[in-house]
Amino acid sequence: MPFYEQSVDTLIDERTLFARIRELGKEIARDYSGKNLTLLAVLKGSIFFATDLARAIDLPLCMEFLGVSSYQGGTETTGEVRITSDVTTPMAGKDLLVVEDIIDTGLTMKFLLENLQARHPASLRVCTLLEKPARAKARIDIHYRGFVIDDRFVVGYGLDFSERYRNLPFIGVMRS
Ligand code: 5GP
Repeated sequence: MPFYEQSVDTLIDERTLFARIRELGKEIARDYSGKNLTLLAVLKGSIFFATDLARAIDLPLCMEFLGVSSYQGGTETTGEVRITSDVTTPMAGKDLLVVEDIIDTGLTMKFLLENLQARHPASLRVCTLLEKPARAKARIDIHYRGFVIDDRFVVGYGLDFSERYRNLPFIGVMRS
């Protein structure tokens, strides 16, 4: 029996995830044809999504990784965002697509977009796997979204609870 079976219920199964990621990949490939696409994955949560999404985009592209931390552990945002590891190449002139796991309050993405805009990319857009509109505190222009979900704390497919559960192959909710 898988280790998570006692503690996690499935919210979005693996098959549904991949079907949606394939659709997003097609949409992105259409929109970025002939452009200088760089996927900027926000660590750590978007790691699985970003690598699967990259493989669903039939275009030449670059990948960059940027680490942010907006939580002090637990399940509530502190509103305080830090860049914990930065990209290694200049972002100027690139068509940047920020790939995020989840937009909850939107405070992390607001901070990131302001930070990245100051680096003068050719274009800047947002792709998030999940969006929780019920908790939005900042208005974010989301160009590509996988799924809109209710206000529940989710884990799996990159999303953690105290650094665990990232390796579940689906999106789940913790059983209380
Ligand atoms: P925001 O700044 O939009 O409130 O939060 C963004 C970050 O908070 C996400 O990148 C993610 O790391 C974390 N987060 C928000 N909601 C959840 C959730 O339901 N589950 C998990 N595991 N992390 C979340």
